[in-house]
Parts: sequence; C-alpha cells; structure tokens
Amino acid sequence: MSEKEYTLRKEFRVDLLLYVFYRAESCEAVYKKTAIDLADRMRCNFPAFSGNRLNLEQHVLKSLAEKEDFDDFITYITNPRRQTEAFIKAEVEKYIFRDQKDEAVNILKKNVDDIKTTVSQALFTATQKVQNQRGNTEMWLNDFSNVLKDELTIYNIFSENFSDIKDFHFLIEEIQKGFKSITEKMSSLSLDKLKESRLKPEEILIDQLCNCCWVKCPFCAAVCTNTMKAHSPDDHSTPFHRPDGINGYPYRKTKDLSVIFCTTLVRSEGGFYPSSEKAIPYKQYRIAGPPYDTWSITPDRSDLAYWKWFVCQFKTQLENHYGKKFQGSGAIPDLWKYISKEEAIRSLEEMF
Ligand SMILES: [Zn+2]
Ligand SMILES: [Zn+2]
Repeated sequence: MSEKEYTLRKEFRVDLLLYVFYRAESCEAVYKKTAIDLADRMRCNFPAFSGNRLNLEQHVLKSLAEKEDFDDFITYITNPRRQTEAFIKAEVEKYIFRDQKDEAVNILKKNVDDIKTTVSQALFTATQKVQNQRGNTEMWLNDFSNVLKDELTIYNIFSENFSDIKDFHFLIEEIQKGFKSITEKMSSLSLDKLKESRLKPEEILIDQLCNCCWVKCPFCAAVCTNTMKAHSPDDHSTPFHRPDGINGYPYRKTKDLSVIFCTTLVRSEGGFYPSSEKAIPYKQYRIAGPPYDTWSITPDRSDLAYWKWFVCQFKTQLENHYGKKFQGSGAIPDLWKYISKEEAIRSLEEMF
C-alpha cells in the first residue's frame, strides 16, 4: 500500500467515525435529553399532566366538550385510552411548538451546549492522560469513549476499528477538526427534528400517564379513574358515570336509548339481566359476580350535567350512530336542554 493510499484510508476511517458518532449519537443524545426535559417540565407545569388520573380524565372530557367533535367523543366512549393518548399528543404538540416554543428552544440549546462541553472535556482529559502516561491511540480511544459512555450510547468499538492507526497525533488532530465542524452543525439542530427523534416527549408522557386502570363500568362503560394499573383489592370507581344510552344500550326489548345514569340505577327498584333470564336487583348489583362485584358505584344523585349536555347536543348523531332513539322511557328530560356548555364543563370542575 502506498503512503498516500494509507493516509486516505485513515482519513476515511476517521471521517466515518466522526460521522456516525457525532452526527447520529450526539444529535440523538441531545434530542433524547430534550424529550425527557420537556416531559418533566410538562409534568410539573402543565395542569392536565401535573395531577392524578382523575385530573387527567377531567381535562380530556373538558377538551372534548370544547372541540365538540362527535367522532372524538365516540372514540373516547369506545376506546378511552386511544382518545387519551391522542389528547396527550395534541397537548404536547401545542405546548412545544406553539405556546411554550421559546422555553422548548432554550432547553434544546442548553442540551446542545452541555453535550459540546462534555465532548470537549472528554477530548481534553483523554489527550492529557495519554500524553502524561505516554500511551497510544488505543488508550486514548478507550479513555475518550469511557468518559462519554454515560452521556452517549457508544461502546469501545472504536479501538478495534482504529487499531491500525498508529499515528496518535494524526488521530487527535482529525478528531478535533471534525469535532469543530460538527459542533457548528449541532448548533443548528432544530426543534422540528425532535419529531423524528427515537424518544419523543409525548411517548414518555403517554407511558407515564396511561400506565393506569382502564377497566370500564359494566353498566355505562365509563373508565375507572384509579391511577394504579392493578389496584386489587380496591374496587374500580369513577365519578364520571353516564347514561348508558351513550354507549348505545337500549331499554330491555326496545330500541329506546336509556337516559338513566348508573348512579341512579343502583338505587332504583328495577333489575338487570347480566347473563340469563333471571333478573338481578340493581340495588344488589354486586351479587351478579364479576365484573359487577369489582365495581363500587355509589347510589347518589350526582348525575353529571356534562353528560346531560352531551346527550342533548349530540342527540341526532347518537341516534343515527346506534340506529336507536331517545324516546319512550328514554325521552330526554326537558330540564337537560337548558344546560349550557359552560355549565357542563363547570360540572366537571365542581367535583374537585
Ligand atoms: Zn357506570
Ligand atoms: Zn380500576
């Protein structure tokens, strides 16, 4: 191999190292740290994400009412987790790219600076150690990658790749040169690229906030609001029970959608038919066995104005969606029609 070819080969290897290492790992590390920082920030400052599960549920319901999108309501009713995830995603997007954009850009900038400082310190420390101890390229590379191991996910693969480079000073010079040009590129990292990063702030928040109970009420399908995923022996419960007509359930042997809340049902005289022709009295719903006996439904008059407003607002869409009607025993009470959206939202807030 001629001397020229050898130099070219070395340069190519160094460039490759720099390209893979700095471009991919440094940038990814900056985005990863930024995603974690932004998720932490929202857990502290953003009202929907800074409280317990009940608080999150209340914000999901509030946003559904504000948007008045029937399809979103149906997603929430049939698959509350999917709608909650969509809510988290949309709120993160608004927070980072609109409402708190300056704060997000500052976090990104700070993380770029931190990585720059860490890498340049690692360069300096490794070089000094090798010079003091008269070490070689392998020692330098080991040291350099060791210092950065915690910050960036790199391993000691370099020393194997570079064992044929004996000229230590050549390597250091090349790495320093490359480092300079790449830190310049890093300064132009943009918030938009965060969307392509391996770890996204919304994913962190979805993992944290949706790791809770998703069991549905056997009567109205409202989701349990316990923050714990498995909370046995504690019963499932929710303050957001709703008329079961919202799920398309009719009165027995009719096509009339029901307007009765389960909190009312469980103090009524009637009965229900969970599996056979034998009726179970509502007042003793727990004797029907699972899943009924795992739910605590308080027989009170806390019928949420929110759902009364929803039924009135979307009566026609609900009827078309289920091919049934709010009529007969399921006729909507007149008083419900006077509830405004503001009152509906307020009824969610009054629960706390
Ligand atoms: Zn219920
Ligand atoms: Zn539960």
